[in-house]
Amino acid sequence: MSQYKKTALVFGAGGFIGSHMVKRLRAEGYWVRGVDLKKPEYSKTQANEFIQGDLTDYKLVEKCIEFKGFLGNFYQYVSDQHVDTFDEIYQYAADMGGAGFVFSGENDSEIMTNSAAINLNLLLAQKKINDRKSVNKTKIFYSSSACMYPEYAQMEVNNPGLKETDAYPAGPDSEYGWEKLFSERLFLAYNRNHGIPVRIGRFHNIFGPEGTWTGGREKSPAAMCRKVAEAVDGGEVEIWGDGEQTRSFLFVDECIEATRRLMESDFLGPVNIGSEEMVTINQLADIAAKVAGKTIVKKHISGPLGVRGRNSNNDLIREKLGWDYTMTLEEGIAKTYAWISKKVEEQERIYNWDPIPNFSF
Ligand code: NAD
Repeated sequence: MSQYKKTALVFGAGGFIGSHMVKRLRAEGYWVRGVDLKKPEYSKTQANEFIQGDLTDYKLVEKCIEFKGFLGNFYQYVSDQHVDTFDEIYQYAADMGGAGFVFSGENDSEIMTNSAAINLNLLLAQKKINDRKSVNKTKIFYSSSACMYPEYAQMEVNNPGLKETDAYPAGPDSEYGWEKLFSERLFLAYNRNHGIPVRIGRFHNIFGPEGTWTGGREKSPAAMCRKVAEAVDGGEVEIWGDGEQTRSFLFVDECIEATRRLMESDFLGPVNIGSEEMVTINQLADIAAKVAGKTIVKKHISGPLGVRGRNSNNDLIREKLGWDYTMTLEEGIAKTYAWISKKVEEQERIYNWDPIPNFSF
């Protein structure tokens, strides 16, 4: 008898949400294979097996989705009841970033190619293995985004909350959003035509410890925590635009819980996975400052902004899964600030030796 409850494959297992999902699945008794271009940056992977590789390579995807594809010594422990294909796949791999990365326009072709190629590879490979083995048990979760909602529905700061039906007529404000919309439809088409069980969640700004916090791809909650941590008490914190643009943010543990419930349910989605606590970016900065116990002066500068107002409407997920967010933004920011301020402090203790040119004793 196998000691594992189920098997799961996590694409993007070296990233923020993927590495949190790996931890959760292991805690639930799953055997997990993670795949990513890179290992998790902030803690060791908890996956039973971790494959480092590029998922735009079809051959790699084909090998990964076959359960025995890579198994070495582990196989003997899991083989009796888990054969051939995985019970569940979580597809998180994509080029991700905050407004500075997604809305600059400079990364559009890479963002679209990378993500679409991974999704196409996964679905095609899964269909082929299902046909070859005459099975169809693997449930696949796809992480879509609130960025797929049309720009025209997000022009006002007082956004009443985006309902799933607001997606059409389509009109996302970024190529990242258009690709997410295309891929949602791709997963649904494989479900319709080949019966592959899929589940689709539309994430609304997920944040928390072990997320990207510096380097240009960080999203606003992490960026704000970092800026506040770096500022002296009474110092300036830069905010893009007038700071009156609105968003809602969901703490990562809540995102994982909602996703697991979606996977356990019969409901395909697409469904919003977000918080309805909408704040302005100025308010987000105030919350980070309050948590840090600092006074800050907001300095408004120009920068990429994205839509004017965005919020989640959770009616559908409440109805279908009985799930709702429970954590306040301040509670989530407190946990995130504690982690990021430590990172900032660590970084401030690192000095680079810059040799003086042409100097010799
Ligand atoms: P992340 O950048 O931390 O993780 C994505 C991972 O995918 C990275 O580790 C990256 O190395 C990997 N990856 C990218 N291209 C790859 C390739 N070709 N081969 C192998 N691995 C590759 O991002 P995240 O915040 O964890 O987001 C996970 C998913 O959720 C993404 O699809 C993202 O679009 C979606 N999403 C996230 C948010 C959010 O707020 N974090 C919101 C909406 C949607």
